[in-house]
Amino acid sequence: ETDPRVMELIGKDSWRGLADALRATTPGQPTVTFDCLIHYKENAARWTRILARAIWSPDEPPRYTGAIGKAIDVHDSRMHLDNLERMATHDAMTGLLNHATAKKRIQERLEERPEGRYALAILDLDHFKSANDNYGHSFGDQVLIYMADKLRQNTRGGDIAARVGGDEMVVFLECKIEVEPAIERIFNAVTGMYEQFPLSVSIGVATTEKVGTDYETLFHAADQALYTVKRSGRGHYRFYDESMDKTLSAISPIDSD
Ligand code: GH3
Ligand code: MG
Repeated sequence: ETDPRVMELIGKDSWRGLADALRATTPGQPTVTFDCLIHYKENAARWTRILARAIWSPDEPPRYTGAIGKAIDVHDSRMHLDNLERMATHDAMTGLLNHATAKKRIQERLEERPEGRYALAILDLDHFKSANDNYGHSFGDQVLIYMADKLRQNTRGGDIAARVGGDEMVVFLECKIEVEPAIERIFNAVTGMYEQFPLSVSIGVATTEKVGTDYETLFHAADQALYTVKRSGRGHYRFYDESMDKTLSAISPIDSD
């Protein structure tokens, strides 16, 4: 029977998964490749690849009689891949998704359930240049990280938050009942003091109810609403409507000056 020390190393669930995979083999295809975390000591688990071969008896029908195998430490290469994956999909400074990944995920959501009611909000810090100019660029970075944290704290698991420009972030929400309270909550969370700097944010919002489920259209409409807010005093939020159709874009690209 199973050595309890082996069980402890691999963990019950992985052990069961490996055993199931081995039993599911056939005499013609007896090998299994199984990746799992091995717990060498408490709080120190490493990704390990188990290459195993089931041993089937020569009887008819064949009986599963056990397995042999070896374990290879794949932790470093797996961590390296995870890091590359993370770097490709996230903004390094804030940890939010990058724009390309957010766009892909939002489009998937819109296609999966086009009948849902969604809102896309674009947030842009007001007079953020003055934070950099007065307190330094690294203080500015702290402000952006703080803003990203606030977005994470004030969105739910199903929402999508991303950094899409230098001081611009987006939140994509499904609105089960009403959109406005959710936007209001986000607006309040990112408005106020951050240390000595008064945080003020402008937000433009577009809803699928108003403009449909095409991502580019949704983004453009939210951008126009944002531009309207920027022109009318900053520091509040507005929902897109047709009167904004002639307005310009407010969005700027990410730069790392
Ligand atoms: P507005 O109210 O019109 O939005 O004014 P603003 O000063 O916020 O200007 P704008 O949004 O056009 O420009 C954003 C500024 O954010 C420009 C750039 O210096 C700064 N910025 C962009 N990326 C970063 C960053 O990663 N770190 C820091 N510290 N600043 C950044
Ligand atoms: Mg700004």
